[in-house]
Amino acid sequence: MSGNASGLLRWEELKFDALLLSWLPNVRYVSGFTGSNGMALLTPDGVTLFTDPRYTIRAAEECRGRAKLVVAKGPLIKAAAQAIHRRHLKRIGFEKAHLTYESWQTLKELLPLGAGLKPAGPLIEERRMIKTAEEVERIRRSVRTNSAAFDAAVKKIKPGMSESQLAAELEYQMRRRGAEKPAFDTIVASGPRTALPHAQPTGQRFRDRELILIDMGATQEGYASDMTRMVFLSEPGPETRKMYEAVLEAQQAGIEAVRDGVRADRVDGAARRILKAHGMAGAFVHSTGHGLGLEIHEPPRLGKKDKTQLRAGMVVTIEPGVYVEGTGGVRIEDTVLVTENGCEILTPTSKELTVL
Ligand code: ZN
Ligand code: ZN
Repeated sequence: MSGNASGLLRWEELKFDALLLSWLPNVRYVSGFTGSNGMALLTPDGVTLFTDPRYTIRAAEECRGRAKLVVAKGPLIKAAAQAIHRRHLKRIGFEKAHLTYESWQTLKELLPLGAGLKPAGPLIEERRMIKTAEEVERIRRSVRTNSAAFDAAVKKIKPGMSESQLAAELEYQMRRRGAEKPAFDTIVASGPRTALPHAQPTGQRFRDRELILIDMGATQEGYASDMTRMVFLSEPGPETRKMYEAVLEAQQAGIEAVRDGVRADRVDGAARRILKAHGMAGAFVHSTGHGLGLEIHEPPRLGKKDKTQLRAGMVVTIEPGVYVEGTGGVRIEDTVLVTENGCEILTPTSKELTVL
């Protein structure tokens, strides 16, 4: 996070001697730059940040001591090509998942004779999986803001309020408490619409006896939080209660499986097994969780196929859910910090079935 980011890579193992970063969260990670237009060139001896004149003052402040600054009048990719020329760099890595084809073409045309472009995988994303102490503190603050906003907004729920009104209230409350913005589009779904795992809030009004699913996250000091809770406007029926209890049990099994050294797919399996025992495996249509940090979705993915070993210092969500078309869905999600012997649940909000 601070100091010289070129030490993040084991250069002797790589097939290039410079890595051009175009994905803004990675640019921010290596340079501190938070603007919307930036590229970074990472070499064994340091970081160069390219941005445009709108960001001259801000970039100078944010990147001080971390990156050399180049303010470009034209396209950043051209400025990066010029720097590559000046420094006689020959083998240039680029982020194959992020650099646009157009930028790649421009760069290729402008490269010095004998220089070549090498596709690079998610090298910086891999380093970002393990959070520094400072990053963990930022995530803690983001999580606290998110939960406090939930508490404040939930008090205002009543029959007749719409999903969109509640989403607006949740986002208002998180900003009042220090968030820069929501980490993703807030999900509020009520009644049978809870069966849509990624429902967009609508003008649908809450009715008595309905369940409401709220999935919300804040971005604060650049870092995301993520939480899902169910609230009930009156005592839920036996079917919904059964779903809730099964999902809660699965979520706890997932949390108990988390520790340093465990494989991501094993955590997913622990949650999935519980839902299978309840005959609900088919209704669990996504993975158990994901990493988060500068982005809301980061590796590792706690799904069936990810064999990444969790390590102390990773921050992940645990969020099993079941969804039944026509009836409704239940998801419960916490943000947790992986530790040597288990995990610390960062989310303070109660998971007891809450009837308003
Ligand atoms: Zn979520
Ligand atoms: Zn999530």
